[in-house]
Amino acid sequence: MRTRDIPLKPMRSVDPDEDKKIGRSLSCYTRNMEVVWHGEFNRLCQHFFPHRWYLSPYLGRPLNYQWYTFTDCAKVRFLCKFCDHGWTSMKGRVVFNFQFNESSLTGIVFFRLFGQKCQRCTPETFEHAMWYPEEVIKVIGNLFNRIGQEYYGFYRPCVRVDRRPGKPQAKHNKECCQACAESKNMFPEWHDLHR
Ligand SMILES: [Zn+2]
Ligand SMILES: [Zn+2]
Repeated sequence: MRTRDIPLKPMRSVDPDEDKKIGRSLSCYTRNMEVVWHGEFNRLCQHFFPHRWYLSPYLGRPLNYQWYTFTDCAKVRFLCKFCDHGWTSMKGRVVFNFQFNESSLTGIVFFRLFGQKCQRCTPETFEHAMWYPEEVIKVIGNLFNRIGQEYYGFYRPCVRVDRRPGKPQAKHNKECCQACAESKNMFPEWHDLHR
């Protein structure tokens, strides 16, 4: 049986305004964002019942053409562990790869977050991005709509492109950005989204 032939409860796309209201109550950021990533993912993907969807960090396994790719960006925060310099970037980047398995009726989503290097002490390593909870909620909502569009016949996905307000202090420094450094190996749409 094809996925689209399995009857599902009526669904709607995520309402951006509703999500903004949720986000407003979560105004701080934290390093330990796992709860927010998985909590929001599970909250939305339960609408795909009886199908189960799982969210997992990308572990480097090569993915073939059968995997869908969805990339999104957000305002994120960094803190250098060497010199304590903190900075904000509007170019926080997440890449999702997702696929539904017809035989097990489960879907898997791999996600990958990208770091940046401190411009003050220019260390060898990239700092991990700290994601604001409302930005996580935004990109997971966009991911949910994209999965719905590819597998569940969502009529019209509404992709939220807004980001937390605020101007970054400096121009985006591509030399210090892991996403830019690795973009050579990425898909074409990357370059439009990450200017
Ligand atoms: Zn530093
Ligand atoms: Zn970049």
